[in-house]
Amino acid sequence: MSFSPIKIDEAAPAPVSRPAPSMAIVVPCHNEQEVLPQLFRRLEKLEADLLEREAIGGPMALILVDDGSTDRTWEAIEAANTSLLVTGIRLSRNHGHQHALFAGLMKADADVVVSMDADLQDDPDAVIGMLEAYDNGAEVVYGVRGSRRKDTWFKRWSAQKYYALLSTMGVDLIPDHADFRLMSRKALDALSEFGETNLFLRGLVRQVGFTSATVTYDRAERAAGESKYPLHKMIALALEGITSFSVRPLRLITLLGFAIASLAFLFTFYSIFAWMFGKTVPGWTSTVVPIYMLGGVHLVALGVIGEYVGKIYQETKGRPRFIIDRTVTGGAVEAPISM
Ligand code: UDP
Ligand code: MG
Repeated sequence: MSFSPIKIDEAAPAPVSRPAPSMAIVVPCHNEQEVLPQLFRRLEKLEADLLEREAIGGPMALILVDDGSTDRTWEAIEAANTSLLVTGIRLSRNHGHQHALFAGLMKADADVVVSMDADLQDDPDAVIGMLEAYDNGAEVVYGVRGSRRKDTWFKRWSAQKYYALLSTMGVDLIPDHADFRLMSRKALDALSEFGETNLFLRGLVRQVGFTSATVTYDRAERAAGESKYPLHKMIALALEGITSFSVRPLRLITLLGFAIASLAFLFTFYSIFAWMFGKTVPGWTSTVVPIYMLGGVHLVALGVIGEYVGKIYQETKGRPRFIIDRTVTGGAVEAPISM
């Protein structure tokens, strides 16, 4: 079997020989009943591979977070027909992908935890490379999409623009990395210290730091079912990424304000000269154009400031990031928790 090259992107420490870790895979699921049987088969194969390679120290745990599904996903989790050690966490309602994933990560108690989508677009074989990087000292290993041939042109185009915009805004992200990653216990414990209510995990994990590595994989087509990320959710996540990690938009408004104020200042001089030399023609255009233009600029500026004020409003409430309705581990039902 072949897997993609591994790159340690920060100074690697002296090779540490770590004991084979216990591993959990966390999968957020929103209406994924169709794909779960395929996911089980694929992960059973991965578990067998990893045990054979002695890459993991024991059976692999699978944590499935049901994010307010309206189909029979929860029933499929409760009655999981698989040899894997499945823990099901059912959230009280649809909290969104990032929050569901976070709930699963906080529940996992393994030495290394891999997060993955339910639809098998993330290549499970890349986990072999991730574990190798972990063994070489990485605390976080990012799965990076080597090719997006299987994505729609719109998804490819919007993703490219999105990463370009975020980097202009000064947000530190790994390009073409979504939420397919391995985190060590140390990195997860650090992640749990971040208190924000609004979660943009791929940005937060960069803030955690530690030695990291990337593993490249080919992104496959969704194995079954439909995308749970319509355009409005993608835009919401994109805005989340910018407003959570960058105040540059606010600074751009200030700069724009300065630029317009300078132009208005020059224009004042011009008007005075024009008046002195008797060239004044009371103009309608020169009156209304600035009114419309400045009205637009003001509204944009207010909107951007409003985004941040809204964020402050949400964060100050300190609401729980997820609420668990119930948990099953091999049939046992545990008490609800929230965090
Ligand atoms: N998901 C979730 N809650 C949501 C939306 C999505 O838990 O509100 C899960 C979904 O079940 C999947 C992952 O997030 O495991 C990624 O979603 P999807 O594959 O539909 O996104 P896409 O690959 O189309 O961007
Ligand atoms: Mg998908």
